[in-house]
Formats: sequence, structure tokens, C-alpha cells
Amino acid sequence: MATNITWHEGLSRAERNTYRKQRGMTIWFTGLSASGKSTIATALEQHLLHLGFAAYRLDGDNVRFGLNKDLGFSERDRNENIRRIAEVAKLFADSSTIALTSFISPYRKDRQTARELHATPSPAHPDDEPLPFIEVFVDIPVEEAEKRDPKGLYKKAREGKIPEFTGISAPYEEPENAEIRIETVKTSVEDAVKQIVTYLEERGLLKLES
Ligand code: ADP
Repeated sequence: MATNITWHEGLSRAERNTYRKQRGMTIWFTGLSASGKSTIATALEQHLLHLGFAAYRLDGDNVRFGLNKDLGFSERDRNENIRRIAEVAKLFADSSTIALTSFISPYRKDRQTARELHATPSPAHPDDEPLPFIEVFVDIPVEEAEKRDPKGLYKKAREGKIPEFTGISAPYEEPENAEIRIETVKTSVEDAVKQIVTYLEERGLLKLES
């Protein structure tokens, strides 16, 4: 571990937000495979961009094939996968971007680590406000997710071709206090996006403090 790092002061988070005219934050989707995380996060990203906000989605395609291509699906690798994603999301959020992450992130401990990371200020700016971290539980019974199975992954998992598949042969630990819970069996994608945007608006997260 590097021990000779000095932190340069640079701009504060509040100054960056003022220049960028928006608050950075991380919206962290969690849920079973095929619950609808990517579908809703993509629709939300598009909606936020359309409203003029900078938003960027991190997902399996742009992370597993690049930054985390050395990681598999054991519990240890999943922990490291989520830790790196949380660090990258935090950087995006710190740059005043709305970071959206859509990963199963099945372990409560990992999501808690991601949350705590966002609450920890950098040593150069101990007075920075914590970065908002909004956990969105995309909730679906595993039987329903398995019926959808858009990528045929549940079928393969049942055939034993994918070891440690969340919901089938590996655990999914449901969030106990997620900021938002969406039941995608009875909520359309459009309504899910509305539910999240309303949450952000009601808490003043989509506008700067005046
Ligand atoms: P995940 O990212 O959680 O693995 P995806 O978004 O890739 O899930 O897949 C979810 C599938 O469920 C898609 O085929 C999507 O069209 C479908 N779907 C049906 N109803 C909904 C809904 N209300 N919200 C989200 N996805 C839905």
C-alpha cells in the first residue's frame, strides 16, 4: 500500500457542484438477475440526460469486461467487484455526476461498504458534505425473475452450468433499509423512473441549495 501520498487541496465538492450546476450522487440498484435493474437504470439515465443532468450508468458490460475482467463470481471476487464499482461510482459522484450502478450486489455487507465509502470525506476536504447514496431495491420473487429469464441464465443455472448463481445456488440478502423499493411485477418501467425522480425531487437532490 502506498504510504507517501500527499493530498492536494483542489476544489471542494460544493465548488464543483456549483460549476457543474448539479449535485453528484450515486443511485445504487440491487436485486436478482432479471429483476429489472438495468432496464430501469437505463430508462432513468436517459430521463436524467433529457432533463439536462449529467448521468452515467455503470453496469456489467462496461465493468466486467474492463476494470474487473480479472474477477470471477466467488464470494471473495464478488466483494472485490462491488468494492471497485463503489470506488468508481464515488469518483463519478464526486465529479458532480449522477452515477447509476446496476449490479446484483447480493451481499448486505458489500452494499454497506459502498454506502460508508460515500459518507467518508477525502482527507483534503474533511468538511465536504457526504455524497448522497440512494439504494434502490428492485424487488421480484425469484420465480418471477426465472420466468422472465431474458438471457437464459436461470435455465443454465438450473442445469448446473453456472455455479453460484444468485437466487438459485448463491444467496441474495434483501436490503433492510433501502431508500427506495420497487416491485417490478406490479410497477411499469415508466412508473419506476417516476418513483425515483419524485424521491430525488422531494429531498432537493436534483437542484442545488440556493
Ligand atoms: P437485471 O439488470 O436486473 O438483470 P434486466 O433489466 O436486464 O434485469 O432484465 C429485466 C427484464 O424484465 C427485461 O427483459 C425487461 O424488459 C423485463 N421487464 C418486464 N417488466 C419490467 C418492469 N416493470 N421493470 C423492469 N423490467 C421489466
